[in-house]
Amino acid sequence: MAAAAFLARTMPVAFPDIAGLVRRRSFGAAAILVVLALAGLAGYLVSERHGLNLLREESRHRLDLLAAAVDSEVVRVTHIPGILALNADILDLLRQPAEARSARQPEVNRYLERLSAQHVDSLAVFVMDARGRVIASSDWILTDNLLGADLSHRPFFQAAIGGAPYRQYAVDGVRDEPGYFFAQPIRDERQDWKIVGVAVLKASIRGVERQWLTHDAPALIADGNGVVLLSAPREWRYASLQPLSGEQVAELVRLQFDGRPVGTMSLDIDVRAAAAGSVVRVSGRAAEALAPESRGRDFLVMSRNLPGTAWHLLVLASVRPVRAQAVAHGALAAAASATLILWLLYLRQRRRALQARLGAQAALEAANRALEEKVAERTADLTRTVETLEAEVAERMRAEQTLRAAQEELVQAGKLAVLGRLATGITHELNQPLGAVRTLAGNGIEFMRRGNLETAEQNLRIVCDLADQMGGIIRPLKSFARKSPAVPSRVDVAQAVGSALFLLDPPLRRAGVVVDNRCAAGEHFAWCDANRLQQVLINLIGNAADAMNDRSERRLEIAAATQPGGGIALSVADTGCGLPEEVLDRLFEPFFTTQAAGEGLGLGLAISRDIVRDFGGELRAENRDGGGARFVITLPAATGDNEPENNE
Ligand code: ADP
Repeated sequence: MAAAAFLARTMPVAFPDIAGLVRRRSFGAAAILVVLALAGLAGYLVSERHGLNLLREESRHRLDLLAAAVDSEVVRVTHIPGILALNADILDLLRQPAEARSARQPEVNRYLERLSAQHVDSLAVFVMDARGRVIASSDWILTDNLLGADLSHRPFFQAAIGGAPYRQYAVDGVRDEPGYFFAQPIRDERQDWKIVGVAVLKASIRGVERQWLTHDAPALIADGNGVVLLSAPREWRYASLQPLSGEQVAELVRLQFDGRPVGTMSLDIDVRAAAAGSVVRVSGRAAEALAPESRGRDFLVMSRNLPGTAWHLLVLASVRPVRAQAVAHGALAAAASATLILWLLYLRQRRRALQARLGAQAALEAANRALEEKVAERTADLTRTVETLEAEVAERMRAEQTLRAAQEELVQAGKLAVLGRLATGITHELNQPLGAVRTLAGNGIEFMRRGNLETAEQNLRIVCDLADQMGGIIRPLKSFARKSPAVPSRVDVAQAVGSALFLLDPPLRRAGVVVDNRCAAGEHFAWCDANRLQQVLINLIGNAADAMNDRSERRLEIAAATQPGGGIALSVADTGCGLPEEVLDRLFEPFFTTQAAGEGLGLGLAISRDIVRDFGGELRAENRDGGGARFVITLPAATGDNEPENNE
């Protein structure tokens, strides 16, 4: 009971609503995934931001280095046009009329050649007259030299002839060499500082480009129009940072790039945004120049202005390593968060398990207490029941004792009733010897008075014999009438029959009953009480005698036999009136009698059956075939098993 109550209390805890549980679990799992994703994303973003900042720093540093390199390339040659403008030979050449210049030209050419050779990478140094024709050049020795070329349309000439020194990147039309053009007006003091020509230096910045090529990250210089002048990779040269219109391209080609493929590809870089470091994706044709693994990828681009020019130096750095690291950091953050969440879940689970265990323990203790209370209650109930039962048992034992006493009394009463029946016969039997005793005693007194002592003595001897005879009549009666408890013993059935017949002898004789006793002494031994068996036999024989009163044939047959089962069957049969149906049905009922009032109590057979049953036997009645009734007593045979050893 207590266990069932305990289960009923704990079941809802152990098996809550399954659907609700699944819903909560799914929601929890989704929430954890979201948290992990957010942690991963945050880790990624922070790492990327940090990585990009580092990359910016790195790019800035690189920009500084590259700018310094460009600067050094350009700065070391900036003074040369100034020197040229002051050179006397050159001035002299310019003062000559055009047709007379050929004589002085070679000398100036060689001078320019030497000057050029002194400065590595300065490609060409040349002098133009006021009309824009090249009149002396350092590359005079080459077949495709600039001598005689008309460069009057070029912006450096236009600017210088106008009086302003010029610096500009351009590609010369002869050797397709890009270069930085320094143009300086040459004034003649003799002609009142009039501009008579222009000294031009075309400086190569290829050295810088070569340096860049050693870097694995793209770098470039774009001019004020956003056209790439120098680049690594080289394929980006003449590309534009932003898409250019057709007119812009035409103008640039005409003035500055002399037919080069300017603006045919755009890098899509905003220089202003790049100043702070922006991320761009190099795609399209521009990407083809990159290594295959860098194509279509994002780059951090940083730019800075080259001092004194409208040029911008730009460096690009792949953000791929930064992103890869950010992914790793994101994964790490997610993993760390997962570990943290798992740890928290583990702690929560442990706490729950602990609570559940404590709850179960408390429930168990409560169940135990309830059980103990119930047990105590039941024990008290049982004690009460046991006490009641003990009282009942004692009561029953008392009742049984009373019943047994009553039965004993009844048996005794039955005995007395039998004695009463025998009394008449006994009285009659005693009357005769008593009368004789009386006469012999009276005669004896008379003989003594007369002195005839001999005769008196004879009379007294006869009196003694008669007294013995009367004692012989009374003794069996005394032993029969004795009130004794039933004590089973080994009883010779024939002896019990003989005693009964002896007691009933007088009435049987008077009634003229022929007794056929077939029981032989020492043949059949039953396990019962001899006195009680005698009582039963006296009842049966007395009834038989009564039943044969009106009959002409009065024969009583008594026989004993051993039954197949081992018991002893003792039968008392008569030739009397027999047992009609209605009598047979009620034969053993107490107080059933067919005798006249005052003659029979109707208890004889009832008591007899009780006595026989007490021994473990049975008493039954039946009608004989030839008329008359037969009563059969079955008794347990006296065997070694039921006989106590001290019985003898
Ligand atoms: P009682 O002898 O005082 O009547 P019993 O119990 O001994 O009481 O007998 C009950 C009745 O059974 C008798 O009144 C009689 O009618 C019937 N009875 C007993 N024995 C015989 C018998 N041998 N033959 C015919 N009837 C019998």
